[in-house]
Amino acid sequence: MVKFDDSFSNTKIAELHKQEEERLIQATAPQLGFDYINLNSYTINPEALTKISEDDSRDALVVAFELKRHTLSIATKNPNNPKVQKIIQTLQNQRFTINLYMCSTASLSHVWERYSDITHSTVESKGVFEINPEDIDRLTKTIKQTEDVVTILKEVSTVNNSRRISETLELIFAGGLALGASDVHIEPEETGIRLRYRFDGVLHDVTDLDSYIYKRLMSRFKLLSGMVLNSKAEAQDGRFTFDAGEKTVEVRSSIIPGAFGDSVVMRLLDPSVAGFSMDKIKLNPYLQEVMVQQLKKPNGLVITTGPTGSGKTTALYAFLRETHGEGVKIITIENPVEYKLEGIVQTQIGEDYSFASGLRAILRQDPDIIMVGEIRDHEVAETAIHAAQTGHLVFSTLHTNSAIAGFPRLIDLGVDPRIMGSSINIIIGQRLVRVLCESCKKASPANTKESKLIRYVMSNHPHPTEVPQPLQIHKSVGCKECGGTGYKGRIGIFEGVVMDKAVEEAVLRDPREHIIAEAAKPQEIPTMLEDGIEKIIKGETSLSELERVIELPYQESGVEQTKPPLDNPDGGDGDFLSHVV
Ligand SMILES: [Zn+2]
Repeated sequence: MVKFDDSFSNTKIAELHKQEEERLIQATAPQLGFDYINLNSYTINPEALTKISEDDSRDALVVAFELKRHTLSIATKNPNNPKVQKIIQTLQNQRFTINLYMCSTASLSHVWERYSDITHSTVESKGVFEINPEDIDRLTKTIKQTEDVVTILKEVSTVNNSRRISETLELIFAGGLALGASDVHIEPEETGIRLRYRFDGVLHDVTDLDSYIYKRLMSRFKLLSGMVLNSKAEAQDGRFTFDAGEKTVEVRSSIIPGAFGDSVVMRLLDPSVAGFSMDKIKLNPYLQEVMVQQLKKPNGLVITTGPTGSGKTTALYAFLRETHGEGVKIITIENPVEYKLEGIVQTQIGEDYSFASGLRAILRQDPDIIMVGEIRDHEVAETAIHAAQTGHLVFSTLHTNSAIAGFPRLIDLGVDPRIMGSSINIIIGQRLVRVLCESCKKASPANTKESKLIRYVMSNHPHPTEVPQPLQIHKSVGCKECGGTGYKGRIGIFEGVVMDKAVEEAVLRDPREHIIAEAAKPQEIPTMLEDGIEKIIKGETSLSELERVIELPYQESGVEQTKPPLDNPDGGDGDFLSHVV
């Protein structure tokens, strides 16, 4: 006789009920004229949550989960329940614009769990979610360099008032925005708690925080990010938004436990980045011309390649903006959606929505243009190629070192080289280099080896310009304007390989990189190295900075390299000389 494990089958039945309810709500919502939302893997905004009391929420089966300026998003199982109507009326009287969604019981329960953290903290102090836009705006305008953050932090910490934590928090964000930081790092170590900003792609030390402030900041961060407060040894992710004068900044936060406390990294997503246009990413004129043609095509695959942080997504956004127009439907699937683009449907991968399954769902939505965040496996590669062959213009990224390397990588991922010719339009390679600070950069004659290297690269350039004799190149110095780093801002260096007959033939015959490179030569598009060297001759960046992001051809140019390239994250220019002695 078969024995059933009751507890097992009960759990199983409960799970099936749960799934069935989820599907039912999902199917019913549009019929009733509402949007459906699954809150089970959603980061609940704690400030939104407090807009409906826990008692009211449980009684009326309605939850508030998102607040952007005065727009409050709420979800309920039954929108026609009079109790829900009454709560909506009250919120509207408080001048909130309401977005109403339908959700399942499981979603409601997920949100209810968040109340315990909130109550705990609101008892502790009032105004816990307060980030004052005026303060942020004022601080952002005051701060010019990292030292200013240190000075203001000292002032804040001597004043013993109730807003000390809030002011520190505002200062950390304002400092990050003012200095153009992409990330804020807070790292507790044995000797102190380190605050660092990453800007222009490089981490910069700001100061140490005292442990009193750190402990209270941590609870604030966790609450803001919708994380669990009392979890000790657990990595957590979250997000929140705050207003900074005219723009809303989104923050993605991540916490990992460490020996001396939780380490925090917050990514600041400045919405102005989404405004990047083709002009602003500054492709070299040869690639620019090719790209304009490519973006007019109605179908095919456009791929950007490069390591993390090489600006691939920014370039894709710029291309998307270029193709965006009336009568064109664009859908993206990203991990995660970093910047909101107007007029474009953006979706992000989640538990039941992978790149592959999402892409299949997107295809049923009849788009003209699709962006898939990354081609990372066979399934995504196949689906993207299929989409490109069935009348869609598809944008995506690949994690490879060069444009050329994109072809063999796709073959590694199981793409049939015979269909690559008819589905791929162009593969682009790119890196970001820091731009020398205009106020302090210093020109000096290139030494023999620097000159030899630069002349060698330019002699292979498809459109060689004359290298001046004697050759002056610029080095970084550091001044008040650039916070002592010698650099300010970043630009891209690019290369591209168009799929033409010769490249198609090479990919089929022998897809090794040097063979494809040879076949692509008549296209006369400069390589990243050539583009970078050109920018050095123009005085836009330094040789050491270029070496930080790509390998330089010492051997090929006949420059003896006595020491291996130094890992040189701070970009001190002396380093280039020191290893080409
Ligand atoms: Zn400077």
